Amino acid sequence: EYHYPELSEITVAIESMNEEIGENLNQLEKQKQIRQEFFSNASHELKTPLTSIMGYTELLRTHTITDPKQVDRCLEHVAREGKHMTQLVNDILMVSKLESEEYRAPFSHISVREVLDGLLERFKVQQEKMNLNIVVDCQDLYVYANKGHIEGVFENLISNAIKYNVYDGTVSISCYASGKNMILKVQDTGIGIPQEDQEKVFQRFYRVDKQRSKVISGTGLGLSIVKHIVHFYKGSIELESKEQKGTTITLSLPILVHTIPED
Ligand code: ADP
Repeated sequence: EYHYPELSEITVAIESMNEEIGENLNQLEKQKQIRQEFFSNASHELKTPLTSIMGYTELLRTHTITDPKQVDRCLEHVAREGKHMTQLVNDILMVSKLESEEYRAPFSHISVREVLDGLLERFKVQQEKMNLNIVVDCQDLYVYANKGHIEGVFENLISNAIKYNVYDGTVSISCYASGKNMILKVQDTGIGIPQEDQEKVFQRFYRVDKQRSKVISGTGLGLSIVKHIVHFYKGSIELESKEQKGTTITLSLPILVHTIPED
């Protein structure tokens, strides 16, 4: 037998629907705002190096600078700013890829050690320049994930541990299995992150202290990319840091497939 709802029941149902719609609208509005902010930040970040490239090019084009040494310095600036723009565009593309809902990252079986070895090779020059001791303690792990994601996480964390380190410093990377999780720990003996900035470093384009950021190149997108990827896999991330002592970032990602035991 059908029960006809009372008018009061219908009112309650409509009110709760309205509330839900309101909530969704709020969220959409917030997302729209975040997106707009991102675009405006991205344009601003791209404009700065572009302005400087155009300035130097103009000096050369009009022969305002002719002394070969100065010309060389000018070209070095142009090259450096160009490199910075490339890094920015790459990072912005990565963020937008991670955000687009249609983006279906292809998964495959990945050897963590292979990814790590490849990356360390690429960081060799920087490592030697700063005379860094890189200590690796990595189990032979296999994970099922998107290769670009795993490379992105390792690359950004290790690159920071190198960039923000001190001469003669140490970077310790450890990677091991814990249940279904892959745990990655990247520890450095670098300049550290002040307490009040520790939450903010995961925000897009946020860089601690403009002064020190000017000397050390970066886009301010690395850690937000890492955080995105960690969210994607429903993992967790933890940051511990002390100024002038160093930083430790620990990730836990539930993507482990199997471990090959050491002999
Ligand atoms: P960036 O491209 O500037 O390195 P990130 O998003 O990777 O961008 O990091 C944001 C900011 O957090 C950096 O500009 C830097 O100030 C700080 N930071 C990140 N990692 C470290 C670290 N290992 N040691 C000290 N500071 C760090």
